[in-house]
Amino acid sequence: MASKDYYKILGVSRNASQEEIKKAYYKLAHKYHPDKKDGDEQKFKEINEAYQVLSDKNKRAQYDQFGSTFNGQGFSSQGFNNVNWQDFASNFGGTQDFDLEDLFDMFQGGFGRTSRKRDTKKGNDIEVEVVISLESVLENQTKHIKINKFISCSRCNGSGREPGTSFKKCPTCGGSGRIEEVKKTFLGNFAQVRTCPECLGEGSIPEHICNVCEGEGRVKKEETIEIKIPQGIDTNQVIKVKGKGDAGRKGGEAGDLYVRIVVEKDPVFERKGDDLLMELPISISQAVLGDKIKIKTLEKKEIFVKIPDSVQTGKILKVSNRGIPHFSGFGRGDLYIQLIVSIPQKLTKEQKELFEKLKKEGL
Ligand SMILES: [Zn+2]
Ligand SMILES: [Zn+2]
Repeated sequence: MASKDYYKILGVSRNASQEEIKKAYYKLAHKYHPDKKDGDEQKFKEINEAYQVLSDKNKRAQYDQFGSTFNGQGFSSQGFNNVNWQDFASNFGGTQDFDLEDLFDMFQGGFGRTSRKRDTKKGNDIEVEVVISLESVLENQTKHIKINKFISCSRCNGSGREPGTSFKKCPTCGGSGRIEEVKKTFLGNFAQVRTCPECLGEGSIPEHICNVCEGEGRVKKEETIEIKIPQGIDTNQVIKVKGKGDAGRKGGEAGDLYVRIVVEKDPVFERKGDDLLMELPISISQAVLGDKIKIKTLEKKEIFVKIPDSVQTGKILKVSNRGIPHFSGFGRGDLYIQLIVSIPQKLTKEQKELFEKLKKEGL
């Protein structure tokens, strides 16, 4: 039934102890690790798969009973999740002079041939929120916002070098900008090349570091940034301002600034896409006889709205082209006016008499 004999792969007997299984595994993993001269990736994977099963009491019992066809969780080169690293380290000849994180990085990065690539000089992106009024959305606008962020050091022009002094060869990497590190692992030693942490890959460092930024090439400061906000913008739209994030280290590329727009709610106008909706209270007689009413649009312009006769409360009138300008820059939405017939709360003597008359007329 079993397609693979995990015991055979690890070279142990079926009643081997956990200790024996572990030992056999370390020996074989060491031998077949793909970075070794006589390494064999296929075999290495097989060994790991066998160990994952046999080192787990439940899985081993299941395997003993049903063979390897149970739960076909195949082993991939990234699938080290089930291996207990603490176990790993402490069991390898008692040496603990490498850290587990490094080891993990090596596997994640493809067996130590490449280390994680990171632009060590680039500045971070910054995200901010800007609140604007609904009315302001009618036109293109320019906002100035203050942000506390890293800006390029003006004394050294971002180089990190004290003006008037020169650069010297980086002593850490000898000018190559890269350093080779030997990682000691239970599988042997591996060479790893990475960007020099001192010169960040430049190969040279200042003879004297800048007095202001202490060699960072950037300082934290408040900067006022101009943001152009196009008309018709809506909440959650994001404006990217390139290069206005944090300045990079030692003259590195700056990050970007992302401005998330929040359009405030207006007390009168409710926004629905690019259309606006407002309520308009009218009297009973206006509802019955119709009228012409003056209203103010969002841009505070006075316009007349014709109320037809015999309207019910809730009726919606449309005024074209009085909504929000389309983001595209062409045309704008419409204004919808919902009529609300208001019932008088207090009546004068005369009004009451009139309503009595209406009542008699059947109204
Ligand atoms: Zn260096
Ligand atoms: Zn400086």
